[in-house]
Amino acid sequence: MSQATGGMIQHTGGCHCGRVRFEVIAPARLEVTDCNCSICSKSGYLHLTVPKSRFRLISGAEFLTTYQFNTRTARHLFCSVCGVKSFYVPRSHPEGYSVNARCLDEGTVEEMRVTPVDGKNWESSHPGGRGKPLED
Ligand SMILES: [Zn+2]
Repeated sequence: MSQATGGMIQHTGGCHCGRVRFEVIAPARLEVTDCNCSICSKSGYLHLTVPKSRFRLISGAEFLTTYQFNTRTARHLFCSVCGVKSFYVPRSHPEGYSVNARCLDEGTVEEMRVTPVDGKNWESSHPGGRGKPLED
């Protein structure tokens, strides 16, 4: 069941084995980004980026493992049991979370519009070193 909160609804999702579970408040018609950087391109990650206030980890904190590289701003969080990165703290928005839109449960997403992001050329695609500010 989804709860309406000002045009936004509650989606749920998680990792493959089900230990990591979360809820995220976002529109039913999602705008997500497909990044071509070294890690996103290898994992096929689709970003739904939200402020921290719209994300809640329900279970599995004890199974999360952190992987960091390069500037070590992003905290890539993956399930230590099944290896799936269902959400993480992104370099573009360290004040928020990026949820992997591919890890959302079926039933609440009406549409997904995918926009490419040139994370491979970070400095030119992210002036000031960060992405666009998030709306609460
Ligand atoms: Zn898992």
